[in-house]
Amino acid sequence: MSCRYWSPFVKDIVPYTPGEQPKVTNLVKLNTNENAYGVSPRVFEALKQTINDNLRLYPDPEATQLCQALANLHQVNKENIFVGNGSDEVLGLAFYTFLKQDTPTLFPDITYSFYPVYCELFDIPYVQIPLDEEFRVNLNDYNREASAIVLANPNAPTSIALDYETIENWVKTHPQQLIIIDEAYVDFGGQTVIPLIQKYPNVLVIRTFSKFYALAGLRVGYAVGHADLIEGLRRVKDSFNSYPLDRLAQAGALAAINDIQWSIDHAKRIIANREKMTNALKALGFKVLESSANFVFAMHPDFSGETLAKTLRQENIIVRHFNKPRIQNWLRITVGTEEECQALLKVFQKICAK
Ligand SMILES: *Cc1c(COP(=O)(O)O)cnc(C)c1O
Repeated sequence: MSCRYWSPFVKDIVPYTPGEQPKVTNLVKLNTNENAYGVSPRVFEALKQTINDNLRLYPDPEATQLCQALANLHQVNKENIFVGNGSDEVLGLAFYTFLKQDTPTLFPDITYSFYPVYCELFDIPYVQIPLDEEFRVNLNDYNREASAIVLANPNAPTSIALDYETIENWVKTHPQQLIIIDEAYVDFGGQTVIPLIQKYPNVLVIRTFSKFYALAGLRVGYAVGHADLIEGLRRVKDSFNSYPLDRLAQAGALAAINDIQWSIDHAKRIIANREKMTNALKALGFKVLESSANFVFAMHPDFSGETLAKTLRQENIIVRHFNKPRIQNWLRITVGTEEECQALLKVFQKICAK
């Protein structure tokens, strides 16, 4: 459709399709990689205490306390931290700040599907590099002229992680290029490359509170990088919205960091559930990629992805199925609680027994 009052480019954009957020509550929701275990009680406490007459006042535009806590956590300086309204916003600002160049940005053909959406919106040239046959990122395939590379690590929806040395080697040998690493899932088994930002000015790491800290509903994300990169982000942000993080988001995220042990303990449970679920799926004949995230990417040679997703849906379980080339037969399944994993496996056992 179109509308005469739109700016002309709007009729051509294809927005990102977020995973379904169902209105009914009786579903086992394994489709958007939210944390299966709840929010730290200390976060609730901090949020309650923030609900007072100060909501009349604008929040701290620099989110100073939160940035300082993140700097302490990652052993960097406050000047190396930039926070935003979810990592989607941080990623969007980073694309706009750094990637509007003559030479293209490179990212995999199968990765977070928001990346091409930002490129189209901001008119950023980009090239999608196919993952290899086993759905791995092979950096040798990125040896071509580019102003930047964007990698989700672990990658989504494949769940596979690249190791620290591989990324450091690339960063070190490509100083002319910016490397953006989206570490949304790193706390479930990946290796963070945040230490690289001390040595190399061309790495920007993006993080979120949505997965590990179980705060998808609060919308907090951040970037870690050289102070000059952070200053670029700040300029663009302050040309758009000076207050992306409200008072509740700042207080809640701060409390989550202060109770990080809660999140570490629950990440361990999710990893244990993931390993159990992976083995059970393999026993049913599924192919499952090696996951370093809070989800698995799986396919069954005898059933289409659509059939599997539909059957699960009939049993009130939702997973993510992408109707896209190369991955139509694959499902991205969030690792749930012990009970949720059992419910999913029960349905698959029924299907596979037929
Ligand atoms: C979930 C996810 C994000 C988005 O996180 P928000 O902070 O909730 O916006 C970013 N990147 C990847 C790869 C994700 O899976």
